[in-house]
Amino acid sequence: MGASLKTEAVVLRSMRYGEADRILHLYTPHRGRCSAIAKGVRRARSRFGGRLEPYFRLHVVLYEGRSDLMTVTSAQTIAGHPRLREHAAALDSAARACDAVSRLFTTEEPHPGVFALLCNELSLLDARPDQATHANQLAFRMKLMLAAGLAPQLAACATCGEADHLSSFSGAAGGVVCNSCEGSGFALGEEAHEFMTAALGSSLADAPHAGDLALRQADRAIAETLEHHAHVRLRAAVPG
Ligand SMILES: [Zn+2]
Repeated sequence: MGASLKTEAVVLRSMRYGEADRILHLYTPHRGRCSAIAKGVRRARSRFGGRLEPYFRLHVVLYEGRSDLMTVTSAQTIAGHPRLREHAAALDSAARACDAVSRLFTTEEPHPGVFALLCNELSLLDARPDQATHANQLAFRMKLMLAAGLAPQLAACATCGEADHLSSFSGAAGGVVCNSCEGSGFALGEEAHEFMTAALGSSLADAPHAGDLALRQADRAIAETLEHHAHVRLRAAVPG
């Protein structure tokens, strides 16, 4: 009949269900995004304690019965990330990171690199809540796009292949475009272009900095690429 799946998981969302249960959206290294029900979790003496909350990284055992929804049979904490919960900006960044993973990776297709990236982001926000910046969120999105095969083309014009005069960005073309092809794009300054390239090439902890204008341009480039090529619209990368 059913089988048990032992896996690591990050809790993306946790929703109340019925009298005492919760439905969880989990992100796992080898089963992608899946949903599970945790029964009785809201009772005071639940064996799960407070572990099944968003941003927890867990070892879980999930029972797969006949329904689409798996059942959580055990959960052990690997990292609860308590410090990020004490900082509004870090908590908000964690929520946006989980939301981005949830919208871009909607199936059970495995992406172990995405799982590792999400764990790195939560761990960074927990260790250094001051890293909860616009630049961090954009660097995280660039790396997610790379994992999804959606990284924008940054080295040459996405339309004609020209390597110089790359002054604009086109979401439809999927990358930077040159002066002759800029009709389909918007102005992308050198600083924004460098930021996007550096974000792909460095770890999250060493993600580059950039000024507000450059970050707004990079943000728009990321958003338009995702809208054109993944048909996904993410929440804004920063509040307000
Ligand atoms: Zn061109």
